[in-house]
Amino acid sequence: MRIFYDGEDLEKEAGHIAKKLQDVFKFDSLVLHVNLEGVFSKLDFSDNSYLYDRDSFLEFMSNLNKNFRGKSLVITPKDLYLGKQSGRDWFLGCLSQNNFVISTARIKMKDNKMPDKNIMEVTREKYLKRLETITIHEIGHDSIVHPDHYRFFFRENEFEEADYLGLHCPDERCIMFAGIDINNPPRENGSLFFFDSNRENMGYVDKAGLDITIENMYPSLFCKKCLKQIKLSDQYSIK
Ligand SMILES: [Zn+2]
Ligand SMILES: [Zn+2]
Repeated sequence: MRIFYDGEDLEKEAGHIAKKLQDVFKFDSLVLHVNLEGVFSKLDFSDNSYLYDRDSFLEFMSNLNKNFRGKSLVITPKDLYLGKQSGRDWFLGCLSQNNFVISTARIKMKDNKMPDKNIMEVTREKYLKRLETITIHEIGHDSIVHPDHYRFFFRENEFEEADYLGLHCPDERCIMFAGIDINNPPRENGSLFFFDSNRENMGYVDKAGLDITIENMYPSLFCKKCLKQIKLSDQYSIK
C-alpha cells in the first residue's frame, strides 16, 4: 500500500502505520509525503475544518498515482466533514474507491475536541493506538468478504433521519464493531442501533466508541469469524 502523510509532521505516524499493517496484514507499504492544500474547500466555523469533496480528492489521487492501480492511504491533520454543517458529520476515516483517508484532527484529546495548537491530551501511545485502530478497521471494511455483519445506524434525535454506518461486526470485542466517535454520545444525545443479519431483530448499543472498542479488543484484534473472512486484494501490494 502507498501511505501518504499530509504535512511535515505526520511522517512518524505514517511509519508506525506501515509497521502495524505489516504485523497485522503482512503487506509492505511505501511511505510518501503529500500536500493536500487546495484539495478540500475550507469550512467557515474552524481554521482546520474542510469539506471532504470526494470528486476532487479522487481526481487529485489519480494524478498522484499515475501508473499505480493499488490502494493508497492518506493521513491528514485536517478535520474532514462530509457535509457543510458543523454537526456530527466529521469523520475519523473513510474509503473512496482505492483511497483511504484518516484524519488525526480529533484523536489527540480525551474526547473528540480539536486541540488549540499542538497540544496532546492523551499519551502518544494512546494516540497511535487510536490511529492504527481506525486504519485497520477501515481496511477490514474493504477486506472481509461475506461478513456476517449487522446493519448499524446512528440517529441524533427523533426528528433526524438515521445515518447508515454500514455493516459492522456485532461482537463488541472485535475491531469491526461499530462506533461513531471517540466516546459515543449518551443515549439522550443520539442512539446507535442495529438490525441483525436476518433484518428481523433490532437492538441498541449503549456504550461504544473508539476508546471503548480499544479497551475491549481481542489480542487478535478481529473476532474469529471476521479473521476467517479476511481476504486482502492484491491491490495492497506496492508493485
Ligand atoms: Zn466501520
Ligand atoms: Zn468481528
